[in-house]
Amino acid sequence: MQTLSTPPVSNSDNSAHSAEFETTIVRRKTRPVQVGNVTIGGGHPVVVQSMINEDTLDIDGSVAGIRRLHEAGCEIVRVTVPSMAHAKALATIKAKLSETYQTVPLVADVHHNGMKIALEVAKHVDKVRINPGLYVFEKPEADRTEYTQTEFDNIGAKIRQTLEPLVISLRDQGKAMRIGVNHGSLAERMLFTYGDTPEGMVESALEFIRICESLSFYNIVISLKASRVPVMLAAYRLMVKRMDALGMNYPLHLGVTEAGDGEYGRIKSTAGIATLLSMGIGDTIRVSLTEAPEKEIPVCYSILQALGLRKTMVEYVACPSCGRTLFNLEDVLHKVRNATSHLTGLDIAVMGCIVNGPGEMADADYGYVGKQAGTIALYRGREEIKRVPEAQGVEELINLIKEDGRWVEPEDGAIANPSTATLAAEPTTPVGATA
Ligand code: SF4
Repeated sequence: MQTLSTPPVSNSDNSAHSAEFETTIVRRKTRPVQVGNVTIGGGHPVVVQSMINEDTLDIDGSVAGIRRLHEAGCEIVRVTVPSMAHAKALATIKAKLSETYQTVPLVADVHHNGMKIALEVAKHVDKVRINPGLYVFEKPEADRTEYTQTEFDNIGAKIRQTLEPLVISLRDQGKAMRIGVNHGSLAERMLFTYGDTPEGMVESALEFIRICESLSFYNIVISLKASRVPVMLAAYRLMVKRMDALGMNYPLHLGVTEAGDGEYGRIKSTAGIATLLSMGIGDTIRVSLTEAPEKEIPVCYSILQALGLRKTMVEYVACPSCGRTLFNLEDVLHKVRNATSHLTGLDIAVMGCIVNGPGEMADADYGYVGKQAGTIALYRGREEIKRVPEAQGVEELINLIKEDGRWVEPEDGAIANPSTATLAAEPTTPVGATA
């Protein structure tokens, strides 16, 4: 399925404030960071990411997992690299992907004391993600009551020494780094100094950013994830405030960690990610679900489409139905969706009655509106075009779209017969989005 170019979203120097009365989201202006053939930030469409859950030592399984995600529309795929053997395996994975499929932008996740691993994997992937709380891991001391400034600074010096080779390697190869702070794994000295707070998260990121900047490395993406949405929201907002004050414009990777699964996992992720996106904050997103990773991708696209940030699906406007509804609205909506869901770019309304339907179609391109019992009216924009028997409604809607030259055949050639479309038809999920 195609992805339309980004709907009109203006960039502004002034992030959330000037957007107060805008009906399109004014995105925070960020620097572009290249990750393989995908650009994060710089006004580019918000990028969708996910992570495979195969062991990276399982080469064929990893290649298949990466491909599955990419085919589902995931634009950057992350893999975990807990050991040197895993880091070396990435070379083979990358080569096999190119041979059997295509190049996919890859990110390697490096954790505890991962300097040597990071240096190896930086040769094979497009971006390395480090967690400031774990990159130089100091075992917590049970009887510690404070960190002196000297102790704090000594660890800072150790971090600098350890991070420098990686920064230089990424800089010289034109690759990227994500400084990925997690609320649940803040370094002990940050916890002592700032507490278990958004401020501690932001200061952790800033400490690493400053080291990168001192080495003239700016291909940086920042994340400040937490499993509690209010904490995550506060951390990202504080980060933006601090970066604005410091003249930094690094793009942000949004996510809610450990969101869980099912409906609540999706709602929780959406609450965090969409809230920030609606404020113009965020350049790439990952919805973390305790489910197969490819199930995260439709959620990402739905968030982006609902906010008008990307258009990967038909936008359906449908009333909830009420006592005035003149047909089985749920049934008709499924039939309409089944017949038209491949027409990316169109807005189609299905409204139960003529009383409020036409006025509430939200400027849809086409409308299917109950006119009277057994008859529906088809609209082009706000104009009623024809009235047809309900039994022919979906077919006539397709004819109207065809007359306008806006119909394309579905890729698999299987146009659902609108009169036999099943109620169980699922909304089509975006596949292979590329914009
Ligand atoms: S559009 Fe008509 S049928 Fe639908 S909810 Fe509104 S009043 Fe009821």
